Amino acid sequence: MTAPGPGLTVTGLHVHYGGVHAVRDMNLTVPPGAAIGVIGANGAGKTSTLKAVMGLIPRRATALRLGDVDLLRVPARDMVRHGVGYVPEGRHVFPGLPVERNLLLGAYLRPWKSDTLASLDQVYTLFPVLREMRHRLAGALSGGQQQMLAIGRALMSRPRLLLLDEPSMGLSPKLVDDILTVLQRLRAEGLALLLVEQNAKLTFEATSHCIVVENGAPAMTGPSATLRHDPRVRQIYLGL
Ligand code: ATP
Repeated sequence: MTAPGPGLTVTGLHVHYGGVHAVRDMNLTVPPGAAIGVIGANGAGKTSTLKAVMGLIPRRATALRLGDVDLLRVPARDMVRHGVGYVPEGRHVFPGLPVERNLLLGAYLRPWKSDTLASLDQVYTLFPVLREMRHRLAGALSGGQQQMLAIGRALMSRPRLLLLDEPSMGLSPKLVDDILTVLQRLRAEGLALLLVEQNAKLTFEATSHCIVVENGAPAMTGPSATLRHDPRVRQIYLGL
């Protein structure tokens, strides 16, 4: 168990794509070591929220802070240096490189060999299948294995906060369960998580609190255990 890192504060976040106001006055906090979920329908603004936090798209916010660090002044390429890891939607592993090379690319800011080897060992302990396949090309892995690789690569930089965009996308129920187990282990180790998902069941089980997003704005927030039984969430937002 590592000491929890600094918390994330997002206040008054807006994203525009030309005339599309995709994120409207989003507010959320991820306290140190907490796991927070963002759920909502297709196109609700979940991915845009994560990309905006990472500085990958133009955004405006009243506050965007990681502890004392003003993330509005941190370029996307330096987020990792501040302890923020990001697992993008669609995995984006390098298919023509071996699994281990993909993982090592995640440690490019940590060139000390013993340190890197310790991180590799931790990732392989979390995902034994990646150890078995470490010499295979990433493109030869199944969708679930590529998702594990994408998460493993983000962990190589030893983040204190991990942003995950739809890790369950396209995976079978069994593999979604495997992802849940991994997220629960990471959480138990003190890593803070911000999980964006369409899979409400996974999100409610992996997080303590959730934000339901509708048309780019937070429509409901509360403890995951409460929201999962809320008839409004189930009927209106999730179609359950
Ligand atoms: P999904 O689950 O499909 O990823 P989402 O909740 O993550 O959906 P976003 O991808 O953030 O939603 O999209 C929010 C809104 O912004 C949508 O109306 C979408 O069409 C629009 N949008 C997203 N990316 C762009 C872009 N590059 N250019 C223009 N509009 C965009």
